[in-house]
Amino acid sequence: MPNQSTGKNSRSVSGRQGDPKTAGAVVVQKKTASRGKSTRSTKAKQNKSKQAPDKNGSPLLRVIPLGGMREIGKNLTVYEYGGDIIVVDCGIAFPEENMPGIDIVIPDFSYLLKNKEKIRGVFLTHGHEDHIGALPYFCRDINVPIYGNRLTIELVRIKLDDRGTGVKGVSLHPVTDGVVIPAGQFSVEFVRVNHSIGDANALAIRTPAGTIFHSGDFKIDYTPVNGEPIDLSRIAAIGDEGVLLLVCESTNVERPGYSTSERKVGESFADLFAKAPGRIVVATFSSNIFRMQQIFTAAEEFGRKVALVGRSMLNVFHAADSLGYLNMKPDTLIDINHIDHYGAEEIVIITTGSQGEPMSALTRMAFSSHRRIEIQPEDTVIISASPIPGNEKPIYRVINELFKRGAHVIYESLSEIHVSGHAYSGELKLIHNLIKPRYFIPGHGEYRHLHKHAELAHEMGTPRGNIFLLNNGDIFEFADGRV
Ligand SMILES: [Zn+2]
Ligand SMILES: [Zn+2]
Repeated sequence: MPNQSTGKNSRSVSGRQGDPKTAGAVVVQKKTASRGKSTRSTKAKQNKSKQAPDKNGSPLLRVIPLGGMREIGKNLTVYEYGGDIIVVDCGIAFPEENMPGIDIVIPDFSYLLKNKEKIRGVFLTHGHEDHIGALPYFCRDINVPIYGNRLTIELVRIKLDDRGTGVKGVSLHPVTDGVVIPAGQFSVEFVRVNHSIGDANALAIRTPAGTIFHSGDFKIDYTPVNGEPIDLSRIAAIGDEGVLLLVCESTNVERPGYSTSERKVGESFADLFAKAPGRIVVATFSSNIFRMQQIFTAAEEFGRKVALVGRSMLNVFHAADSLGYLNMKPDTLIDINHIDHYGAEEIVIITTGSQGEPMSALTRMAFSSHRRIEIQPEDTVIISASPIPGNEKPIYRVINELFKRGAHVIYESLSEIHVSGHAYSGELKLIHNLIKPRYFIPGHGEYRHLHKHAELAHEMGTPRGNIFLLNNGDIFEFADGRV
């Protein structure tokens, strides 16, 4: 398994575009399609797919996850029917502790390279790194149309400009909720869902063998910020048409009940902003434009200006603002170089670094190595994110340093300043109930999440024999009414 890379091992969720030290880093996958361990499905033994329509039956429908199974990251699922392939998502994973020197991990594209001429398009569910981050590498070798909602495509465009060395002529197709794209014998409908980034979609993938509902990352938010709730009536209608296979995310299956609405975070911001004596610094995921919006709204309510710090923060801001997705007065946003023109009580700074990433703006502010901003007593620092498992240590290191400097530090365990973008088990149950799939493949989770989600589906009435725990590289095959 050749793993190599240049640059430092640093992590972030979406802050990596344009990081010059990792540009052009060699990134290599962990597994090949043929090495994946099989549970109940056949393995991708042969890489070159020989799939002429059979004389005795209809063509095979194949589902091959090349990433995102038994891990959270590098989501990529191949759907194949007869001579047509579509790819859903193309993400990266961040390295584990035991992978020193590795920057990022991408899915194994070898199956796709060998079946290049069959690929009719890439369909993106949303613009998070674990769903779009590997496109600069994919697009070097494979040139097919890429479809996604507007913000997703805007973020891909920025990513390819920043990181797509040697990538030219990529055809990007922005779509909107409800659009149906034909792709060979497939057709793909973009269904609106809620998530911690704008323009997130589930996909209803129709094939001659039946419909697949691919959930993407989602939550159910009845009171979202700057957008509409998930399209449950459409999802119910798709369920009523009959769904052959549900592929559904599993991130928060262990959490009972329902996730909290993003709007709740806005209420917490208002409470905190009302009490803050000096500057306010909010660290959050750059991709969460709803969080960004709520910070702008609270800032305006309390007569503060907002400055953005961190390249990924600026990239996402420009992408969202160019689409008209952010509402603010024209003079609310100020340049970071102009913050000295205002009093401390008139300033809010939104920054990257909510995961304690060593090179991030917040870490540098805490350790006095940021060129513009140093944390001072009476600053209020709000960490509006929860630690991605594994990142607790660096985050607490930054929090300790912020306290030492006399700042008021607010983080998740002290206040409701972050909510998850992933469905809790109650929300997952609703989707199972509406979709009523014949077969179910849990995805987007470590093994324990997939296992728990399989239990949930079984409780909801899906027979155990119709539930498949796949590994990356496994093949789920369906033909003539049978798996
Ligand atoms: Zn996501
Ligand atoms: Zn994801």
